[in-house]
Amino acid sequence: MFTLGAFTEIRPPAVVAGFCEPSQKLGLLGAATRTTHVNEAEAAVTATSRTPARALGLDVDGLVFGCDYNPEQWDSSVWADDVRLMQQAGINLVAINIFGWSQVEPRDGSFQFGDLDRIIALLTEAGIGINLGTGTSSPPPWLTTAHPEILPTAADETRRWPGGRQAWCPSSPVFREKAIRLVTVTAERYGSHPGVKLWHVSNELGCHNAHCYCDESAAAFRRWLRSRYGDIEALNAAWGTTFWSQHYAEWDEILPPRTTLSLANSAQQLDFDRFSSDELLSYYRAEAEAVRRFSSVPVTTNFMVTAHIKTQDYWTWADDMDVIANDHYLDHRLPVPGRELSFAADVTRGIAGGQPWLLMESSTSAVNWQPINHAKSAGQLKRDSLTHLARGADGVCFFQWRASVRGAEKFHSALLPHSGTGSRIWSEVVELGSIMGRLSEIVGTAVTSDIAFVFSWESWWATDLDAHPSSDLRYLDQVHALYAALLDVGATVDVVAPGAPLDGYRLVVVPTLYLVSDDDAAVINEFVAGGGHAVVTFFSGIVDETDGIRLGGYPGAFREMLGVTVDEFYPLGAADVLTLTDGSTSTLWSENLSLTAATSIAEYASGPLSGVPAVTRNDHGQGVGWYLATELAPDALSGLLRRIVVEASAREFVELAPGVEVVRRRGADRDYVFILNHTDQPVAHPFAGQELLSEAAVTTTGTVDAGGVHIIRQEHEKP
Ligand SMILES: [Zn+2]
Repeated sequence: MFTLGAFTEIRPPAVVAGFCEPSQKLGLLGAATRTTHVNEAEAAVTATSRTPARALGLDVDGLVFGCDYNPEQWDSSVWADDVRLMQQAGINLVAINIFGWSQVEPRDGSFQFGDLDRIIALLTEAGIGINLGTGTSSPPPWLTTAHPEILPTAADETRRWPGGRQAWCPSSPVFREKAIRLVTVTAERYGSHPGVKLWHVSNELGCHNAHCYCDESAAAFRRWLRSRYGDIEALNAAWGTTFWSQHYAEWDEILPPRTTLSLANSAQQLDFDRFSSDELLSYYRAEAEAVRRFSSVPVTTNFMVTAHIKTQDYWTWADDMDVIANDHYLDHRLPVPGRELSFAADVTRGIAGGQPWLLMESSTSAVNWQPINHAKSAGQLKRDSLTHLARGADGVCFFQWRASVRGAEKFHSALLPHSGTGSRIWSEVVELGSIMGRLSEIVGTAVTSDIAFVFSWESWWATDLDAHPSSDLRYLDQVHALYAALLDVGATVDVVAPGAPLDGYRLVVVPTLYLVSDDDAAVINEFVAGGGHAVVTFFSGIVDETDGIRLGGYPGAFREMLGVTVDEFYPLGAADVLTLTDGSTSTLWSENLSLTAATSIAEYASGPLSGVPAVTRNDHGQGVGWYLATELAPDALSGLLRRIVVEASAREFVELAPGVEVVRRRGADRDYVFILNHTDQPVAHPFAGQELLSEAAVTTTGTVDAGGVHIIRQEHEKP
């Protein structure tokens, strides 16, 4: 067992770096974060202007291959062996001190850095870069004992107690003061240490504590609302408080959306979601500012772009990150977990503005927090990791180095499992490390696509609010269905925020964009008027930013562009299946739709809306707007998307077989085509070039084994 050494007093830092200017602090993302599309010519320019081995802005050679390391869980006698095995596996970046608070500051104001000093020295001597945690993710018991007011409060005003993690209120001034003191002392000590390559603020901010309903949070919510609305009557108008006698005379009357007897005010809930995301971003900024006082090393935190966490609007966080980093774990509660992996990777690349990003955490095999925690099959670790790389990651890291013996995560897989180096996982880890070392030439290359896919955290929050026509309509289900259909037809998409410029794209896909501002809708409508193609699905364009209905017929914001009007929704029962005139079937949703300018592609052939158009196509300006008013069966949806992708003349679209992904990363002189075979059958492909995993030349065609991957290097033709 690891035991704490004697407390030592805080020492002055060996070297204190000077304050750095903002331009020095930012990695590559600073200038390019909001570039949402890189066309082929631009991609070449971007790639040439990049320093190849520094695309993430980190001082680490080649691709990052890393892990979380929690040496405090182990006797120090194993540390040297850990570092030796890390070298054997090819690890070049190790995250430490993520949950270090109670070790580093075991009593209020008494700091002991001895063990952290030793770990940092061991890793640095071994040439392994350090991703240094600020250690603030979970408060130590002395803090929650002395200040129980920092504990989070649920919507029913019950308290959430220590014993797990993240037991702190994002608006607590006491928590912030103590955390920033720790960050300051840590940054002062290690800010200019040559082994530190990246700062890791807190951990998965908002994973558990995004929403706090305590009085402190209520006061912060009011301050946020005053800043947003200025005038209380503007808030009353936006929240529709004439309804159910909710009019506020004073700011102090406003509360967070605590548990109500009946349905709650939807605009209040939506603003609380926005406030809660902003509040943790503000907390991130405070920590990052404390780090930057003493360090010019890039700063980031690990996002959770994933199916089961929706609390942070990462579009608004991107500009504050020096490196975009994401944690991703396969969720076996989803029908096809691997598709969500690809989607999350594309979202993360979108947040990074098309630039390379870092997979900060993933698992070598099973996790510990799902009802059934499935192990990965042989070869899946490699294929999943290469899928992240294909979709723009310049590094893959794992939680965690050594599987824990005690605690809630002891059955979470690791690079070094309980059974040790004789395990299948360890041999696959060593193999993956070797592959990562050989793939450094892909660093800094960019994924190419001419299809934009609109994804909105605000629409996710708003669509999933209660009191809607059907509680079975969930935003992410619709997003995943459209994305899966595009995967099926071999299309690569760039995921973009609502309102992102669409120049250079040929098609924009807009799944269930229930909430959209006038400006953001105009970008899509003008894109179509100017010659682009758009496909919009049901329950889009319904409300403005305040969750207020757009009058005059659905789908309000897109009605004219789509050439249709809808006067009533007809949601379906769970067992209801409709037949369409083209023989396809649909579920979940239907609408009483009239054509105003569009052409009907298919009508309902059964049910109360027999004869009413279900799929429409509208020539609008120089482009085309497609509308899908029902949830098509997967095959029919893929068929429709195939037709639309072809008609839009999208170029990045290679259909090999269902379950096979083809993604291209483009560099200055060469492309890398990733063929990822998620099926149990071998698949032939037409790409000629050098295959990087086997180092074999693939002259005209190749065959990827079941569950395998090819990465084909293709030299650009010289002019
Ligand atoms: Zn609170």
